[in-house]
Amino acid sequence: MKSIRDQVCLLCNQSDFDIYMDMLDKDISSHRLSKEIKKEIIEKSILVAEEYYKKLVKEYGMCNITKYVYRLGVPIDYVREKPTKYYSYIGLFKEKTKTITVNLETILQIKHITSQFGLDDIVDINMIKDVVIAHELFHYFELMNPSIYTNQKIIDAKIFGIIKTKSKLLVAGEVAAIHFSKLITNLKHTPLVYNKTFALGKNMLTN
Ligand SMILES: [Zn+2]
Repeated sequence: MKSIRDQVCLLCNQSDFDIYMDMLDKDISSHRLSKEIKKEIIEKSILVAEEYYKKLVKEYGMCNITKYVYRLGVPIDYVREKPTKYYSYIGLFKEKTKTITVNLETILQIKHITSQFGLDDIVDINMIKDVVIAHELFHYFELMNPSIYTNQKIIDAKIFGIIKTKSKLLVAGEVAAIHFSKLITNLKHTPLVYNKTFALGKNMLTN
């Protein structure tokens, strides 16, 4: 079995495109899509992320993510909710209140795992809060702009194979949010490194 460090390093060395393709391959609602279509979805989601990043820079100049969020008037709610085996999150966007929620407890655990397993040189832990805020800010943009590509990406879906329905391909929004957060924070690795570190480390710590 590969060590935690090896697994995290592996993810750090993967290209963004390959990481996003993995996400689509694992996504249940997109598993019937052809490789070509998946490629197109990834490319368009990346473009949307770049477009919104450029818009922010044009409007407010280059600044810290918390400054953008402040200028846009999006409230940030810092909470401390202990992650459990079945339920954990680092950040959330609440559509009803248009609020970004950041879970400091999960962030603390990821920081702990990072130092415990000596990953400080590969995981940029100091950026985690900014990355989470940026990710959720993209979901705010999705809510405020119904015509954004990631809202328009509709696929045919069958619920339990009986009722045919149309549904939004949520994974496209995730790809765009992840890419947007990487761009705006200038993160050296994919933001998914935080999720991976948490997923691998929490099991090792409790066992
Ligand atoms: Zn998200």
